[in-house]
This record gives sequence, structure tokens and C-alpha cells, in this order.
Amino acid sequence: MLSGGITHSPRLGQQADPVDAHGTGRIVKFQQTYYVLDQEFRVLWVGGEWDEFALSNGGAGARANEVLSTSLMTYIADEPTRDAMSALVSAVLDMQQPLRLDYRCDSMTMMRRFQLTVQPMRDGRVLVVHDLRDAESFPQPLVPWQHDPDVADEKCSFCQAVRFGNGQWTPVMLLAEPHPARVAFCVCPDCQGRIDEAIAALRGKRAPRRTLANGFGPVGQNG
Ligand SMILES: [Zn+2]
Repeated sequence: MLSGGITHSPRLGQQADPVDAHGTGRIVKFQQTYYVLDQEFRVLWVGGEWDEFALSNGGAGARANEVLSTSLMTYIADEPTRDAMSALVSAVLDMQQPLRLDYRCDSMTMMRRFQLTVQPMRDGRVLVVHDLRDAESFPQPLVPWQHDPDVADEKCSFCQAVRFGNGQWTPVMLLAEPHPARVAFCVCPDCQGRIDEAIAALRGKRAPRRTLANGFGPVGQNG
């Protein structure tokens, strides 16, 4: 879902990627992004590496100081991902309990696992944190890709798996064909299942019946 890269982090002393994961020509890197939302998903406060985060979602690349009071949904390109975020935040607000869910957000050169935490705050607000948890280089860099709602090839914004036309969802590492340059971001059935289970567990006040955090996923690897 939501991309970036430690590949060029000064903290790790590595080289910058020439372009970002989505071919916008800007370097995408983020290790932690956090923001406070109200019940209408308006951004009340932003911290961390917002600029890279927004760009990597394929949404409008607004600077952090321009996003205050605008809707988070402006910065998420596709409707299924917007719906998923909306449902996750609503569950946290209703139950006043935090929720955690891992997702993948690769750069061209690295697969990266992030953890999404949605935490209730006072007065119907939530704190949302995107935290880099793990990273690993691809044997071969991928081609840059871009969100295009009108193409047949789809990419899951939560696990980065790709589906060509109406074929099978395939993890990026196992693609037999080159990564498509244009993809329609959406949520694959496996990730939708994890999201639904995270919400059902929170609302049902029980432990999740599958692993929601840990490992690189996607299909079949996240429990
Ligand atoms: Zn997925």
C-alpha cells in the first residue's frame, strides 16, 4: 500500500535510487510517517517523512505543510485502499482500541515491510503510524511502476503482489514476466481477508485468527 526506501538513507550510508518506486522521478524514502486524523479523515498533524509517503501512495504529492486540514483520502490513489483505511480507522474509533497490520511497500530495489498502527486518541481522533520494520534487496531491480486506474494489470497496495489481466495474484519475486510499468492499485483478496479479520477481531474483542503482522507476505506467507 502505502512506499519509500532505506536504500538511500543517510543513516545507513547507502546510495540513492535514481528515481522512486513509482517513476515520478523523485526519490522516495521513508522509515516512519505519522499523522493525526479526525473523524472525517482530515489531517490535523503530520510528522516523519510525509512527503515521500504521500508520493509513494500514488496520490497527490502534497508537501506536509499543505496537507493540514485536507483529507487523507486525497493521498491514496485507489478506492479499495481508501475503503480499507477508512474501515480500519472506523473500527479503532468505535472500539477505542489500537490496531496493527503489516503491509509491503517496495522500492525498485528493495522489498520493505511496514507496520501500520492506528491508535485511538482523545476526542475522536486517531494517530496513524507507518513504521519500516524490515527490508531486503531484490536480486534484480524492478522497473518503475505507476498507478493507472485504466489498465488491466493490478497491484495490491498492501502486499505488492501483481495480477496480469484476470490471472493469478503473484508475489513480485515470483513474476514470470517483467513487472508492468503501469498498474491499477487495489487490494488483493488475501490482503482484504487480513484487513477484514483485523477489523472483525477488534470489533469482536478477540485475538485475530491469522497473523496480521510479521514476515514479508503476501499470498500464503502471512498466515
Ligand atoms: Zn495483497
